[in-house]
Amino acid sequence: MKNSFQAPQTCDLIGIDLGGTKIEVVVLGKDQKITFRERTDTQASLGPQHIFNQINMLYQAAIQTIGHRDHTLGVGTPGSISGKTGMLKNSNTVCLNGLPLKSLLEDHLAHALVVENDANCFALAEAVYGAGKNYDLVFGVIMGTGCGGGIVTNKKIRRGPQNLSGEWGHMSIDPNGPRCFCGRRGCVETYISGSGLEKIYAEQSLKLGKASDAREIFNLAKLGDRHARSSLEIFYFSFGRAFANLINILDPDIIILGGGLSNETTLYQEGIESIKNYVFNDELITPIVKHELGDSAGVIGAALIGV
Ligand SMILES: [Zn+2]
Repeated sequence: MKNSFQAPQTCDLIGIDLGGTKIEVVVLGKDQKITFRERTDTQASLGPQHIFNQINMLYQAAIQTIGHRDHTLGVGTPGSISGKTGMLKNSNTVCLNGLPLKSLLEDHLAHALVVENDANCFALAEAVYGAGKNYDLVFGVIMGTGCGGGIVTNKKIRRGPQNLSGEWGHMSIDPNGPRCFCGRRGCVETYISGSGLEKIYAEQSLKLGKASDAREIFNLAKLGDRHARSSLEIFYFSFGRAFANLINILDPDIIILGGGLSNETTLYQEGIESIKNYVFNDELITPIVKHELGDSAGVIGAALIGV
């Protein structure tokens, strides 16, 4: 992975992706190739201290492989650091919200670091090395347990004065919709994320369905399961409205999908057809594509923004 936009890299870049269920670390060596990668479970229910210990375990393994040489460190997480309080806000790992995540991690890991929204990290990595490398304005979406967005313009993350740019997952598309962890109703995330689809299916099937995760619901729909099909009708209706709203405002050069749901091929057929119903234009030419960097885009982006 090489890109001419970057200054020559003088040390190893370490990135950590702190997800709701998994934590991943990578080391990008001097030729910008991944030289080390490891994952572990977040086990968020065990609380912040346990999460910090899990992060530290991966970080220690990473610095051991580079012989404790100089490196930069970046951390991607859902949510963002409040400019007002310095505390993490809006993470779906809710036990970390209200904590000074950056300074706590710097103490724990004994290294300076940057904390960045995980969808911003994903969008940056794909804009630099992946599906967005030939585009100026990239909107990256992580559709995993939750749903987050990030905006990259000319290979730089757009953060905004409130560190809020791209937080499209918590735009309400139905004031009477399902309750979101953020306290509001009908957020995009309550429909077009893994957890959202699972809840819709549970309601549609009156909890009789056996589907345990979102991918299984897509498979059941293909087999003709009527509850799965009606759940996906709601899913695609919401998908179309949510992306059309986004395109009407930002009109990005490309939209890149990541996260577990992005591997579902029907998103790029039925999903795009649904967007056409709601976009404020007589055609839809925005490329809406799958990520190119696989599951590790977010953690690569975290490595790119470290200090
Ligand atoms: Zn929300």
